Order: sequence, then structure tokens, then C-alpha cells
Amino acid sequence: MSLLKVTELGKSFGGVKAVDGISFDLAPGELLALIGPNGAGKSTTFNMVNGQLKADRGSILLDGDELVGRKPREIWRKGVGRTFQIAETFASLTVVENVQMALLSHDHKLFSTFRRAADHKRDEALALLDQVGMKAQADRPCSVLAYGDVKRVELAIAMANSPKLLLMDEPTAGMAPKERNSLMALTKQLVIDRGMAVLFTEHSMDVVFAYADRMIVLARGRLIAQGKPLEIRDHPKVQEVYFGSGKTFEKIAEKAAAVNAAVGAEA
Ligand code: ADP
Ligand code: MG
Repeated sequence: MSLLKVTELGKSFGGVKAVDGISFDLAPGELLALIGPNGAGKSTTFNMVNGQLKADRGSILLDGDELVGRKPREIWRKGVGRTFQIAETFASLTVVENVQMALLSHDHKLFSTFRRAADHKRDEALALLDQVGMKAQADRPCSVLAYGDVKRVELAIAMANSPKLLLMDEPTAGMAPKERNSLMALTKQLVIDRGMAVLFTEHSMDVVFAYADRMIVLARGRLIAQGKPLEIRDHPKVQEVYFGSGKTFEKIAEKAAAVNAAVGAEA
């Protein structure tokens, strides 16, 4: 059974049909990439799922519950997580304190109780940091971390809510190729360990081919193809609309195979 079932979802801004009647499913434990050129409607889709934007039409079912019309906070409570950038104000806190904050927030505690409650959640926070490979740096301020490490902490923060579905809109933006692969390998590991589902957007086709279980392709608000990476690679409509030529795509697939080999991922 699918965890997320999106049916005929649509949203317009003025005369622009940003998302124009798309339908797709997402199963638990699945890593689904949403790709498409700039302006295709990817972020609009994400923001309808997380409740930041209200859909004009269609349905978004999570475990059979309708999400359209619910507030972001309610949707978050139902188990839809997303990665946030660590705010400036929290950068002076340590790595583990940032995760403790997220755990307290999940437990309805107010930030003002943080100082008092800090010790309670420390072990839980350390366990999450262990999962993202950041336990050794737990007591360092976030402000001194390398960029790729900050992204790992942000992932641990998103995990504090134990999401069933994690939304990641361009999670690897601004990262070097090696860091990108490392973050996605980690995400894939979390998907496997927790049976969590992930919906993500990504510009690097190397990353998409190496890690996505399945892909959906948007162009001008319409869903033009969906399937496994290799099916998408060979899809004439995708090559035409998205990539312009098949040649580029073959090159990309070759590179992805090399990445796969390097990280030891399944083919
Ligand atoms: P993507 O994330 O795939 O690049 P978006 O979902 O951000 O695409 O945008 C889809 C289309 O909707 C674009 O034409 C964009 O200009 C338009 N759009 C997105 N958000 C808004 C907004 N808040 N107001 C007006 N137009 C928007
Ligand atoms: Mg976007």
C-alpha cells in the first residue's frame, strides 16, 4: 500500500499553472526523485505536500488521510518531515543542543524550557547524531562545522520528528560532488534503516541515477514520465523535453554507474 497518494493535484498563480493535475504514489522505504527544468513545478508540489501552499484542486493522502486543507504544523505532526537550514540564531548552539531543541519541539515543549530540559533528551539526540555520523562532533558549535557536516546535522534535526515521509527540496545545493554523494548515501541508509520514504529534488543527474529508486519528471506543471532511472533514461519524451538530446543522458548514465561503483550502491 502506498504511504503517499497524490491525485490530480493542481495549483495556479495568476494565469500560470504551476502544477497542472499531477498524480503519483510513494511507498514506505522508497527514495523518489522529482526532477524537471527550472519552473517545472517541483517546489510548488513540495509546498502543497507540506502545507505551506494550499492546492487548488486534487488530493494528497498520507496513509489514507487527506492533507489538503491542513496546516503545516498538523501535517508535520502526521509524520511529514522536511529539512530546514539551521537558523543563524541557533548556529552558536552546539550540534547536540540543536538536535535536543528539535526533540523538545516534537514533544510540545517550549523553547523557554530548553535550559531546564536539556539533559533529558541528550542521549536521544546523541543516538540521532550517531546515525548521521556526527556524534564525535556533538559538543562543537554548529557555526564551526564544515558545510557538509551542517547538512548532516540538519538531517538529524529532521529525524527528530521520526517522519514517515521526508521532503528534501534540493538538499545538496551548494555542495561539492563528493559531499553530495555522501549526504545521499546517508539518506539512503536512513531510508533502509527506518523504512522511511523520501521525496527529493536534485539537479545533479549523477546523484539521481545513483540513489533514486524511482523518478517522476515534471515539465511546465505536467507529469511527463515516471519510472525507474533506466526507464526514464530511455524515455523519448524525457529526452526531448528535459534534456534536449539523448547523448547527454547516456553520458550521465555512464557517470552514474561510476558513482554507484564508488559508493558501493546497488546497481
Ligand atoms: P521548480 O521548483 O520546479 O523550479 P516552482 O514550483 O518553483 O518550480 O515554480 C513553478 C512555476 O510557478 C514557475 O513558473 C514559477 O514562476 C511559478 N511560481 C512559483 N511560486 C510562485 C508564487 N509564489 N507566485 C507566483 N508564481 C509562482
Ligand atoms: Mg524549486
